[in-house]
Amino acid sequence: MTKAINRPGYFGEFGGMYVPELLMPPLREIERAMQTIMPAEEYQTALRDLLVSYAGRETPLTFCPNLSSQLGCELWLKREDLLHTGAHKINNALGQGLLAKMMGKTRLIAETGAGQHGVATATVSARFGLECKIFMGEEDVERQAPNVQRMRMLGAEVVPVVNGSRTLKDAINEALRFWISHQEDTLYCFGTAAGPHPFPTLVRELQSVIGREARAQFLARTGSLPDYVVAAVGGGSNAIGMLHPFVDEESVKLVGVEAGGTGEPGCQNSAPINLGSPGVLHGELTMLLQDADGQVLPSSSISAGLDYPGVGPEHAWLAQTGRVHYGLAYDHEALAAFHRLTRSEGILPALESSHALAWVFEHNDEIPAGSRVLVNLSGRGDKDMGIVSKYPMPE
Ligand SMILES: *Cc1c(COP(=O)(O)O)cnc(C)c1O
Repeated sequence: MTKAINRPGYFGEFGGMYVPELLMPPLREIERAMQTIMPAEEYQTALRDLLVSYAGRETPLTFCPNLSSQLGCELWLKREDLLHTGAHKINNALGQGLLAKMMGKTRLIAETGAGQHGVATATVSARFGLECKIFMGEEDVERQAPNVQRMRMLGAEVVPVVNGSRTLKDAINEALRFWISHQEDTLYCFGTAAGPHPFPTLVRELQSVIGREARAQFLARTGSLPDYVVAAVGGGSNAIGMLHPFVDEESVKLVGVEAGGTGEPGCQNSAPINLGSPGVLHGELTMLLQDADGQVLPSSSISAGLDYPGVGPEHAWLAQTGRVHYGLAYDHEALAAFHRLTRSEGILPALESSHALAWVFEHNDEIPAGSRVLVNLSGRGDKDMGIVSKYPMPE
């Protein structure tokens, strides 16, 4: 069932390269580089060294004693929050930055919504001496001022995008347009496991270090595999990185958690697998929030990093096959989960990761007692203080 991929770039019916002819050459160039440069010893050694000595891998596997006794199951966290720049995004940015360098490119471009991927790309550009241009919706530039400042300090140019809804969706379109006319010297460092082929596969390969490490650590610490592996799904990169190495382990239940928004009837959300339908966005066929005419609907979530109307095509397919269950967590549940982990274990999770935790807390009675539950803590919550402090503190 899970091996039914027969066309490159397709996951069942999902994925593909729905792009203008002029974008095919740079996408094909990356595809070739994935076959020639990435498997080579030189690339692999350099990436490993960067992940260890620059980004801080391997990240710990943390057992949560207090929550485990409250929940009646074992709660374990994979600590991507402890990485340089505060989230898993650096795994991908380092991998693509190194690839750009070895392809002889001199410039990285990227889209960013909340600014996390922009910061990761600007960081890597500074390290590799690459020029860096970050496309960001004008509305996000205003909403995410501290990250804009960070990117500028790192030497990146932040380009405010004034088209459309002036958010992430439009930033991606603008970055793709820029890439068409600068493909000679530029690599588009795509931020999540979505977009046209080969990005979903490239980003999955670079993020799978999360699940490979977690699997080995879990076996070493407990002598068995986890019963559940849970991750939050925005575009889907931390989730596919965590879940993919477990897909063939039939005993392991896999859960992706989408952002349900406020939970009011008909509210805006970021849950295209649960609440969307198939359609084409940003060069791929995937599950999408759209109206009856195929117009992409605005997404919304308390966590800016999950706020995307589409999702990576491999997730759309894993949902269709049933191998991964895609649940929902609402804003208030994520907020409660944020406080619960912080108070119980002394770890401030990103609001994105709080959605994964919230699913575990909300489904505690369905999870058999004594189960071993592994949650990907994709990032740290420091960036979310402004949002969290707008709501009342729990008792
Ligand atoms: C960006 C981000 C996400 C969502 O992106 P994915 O590609 O779905 O992983 C999740 N968690 C954190 C901390 C992020 O910064």
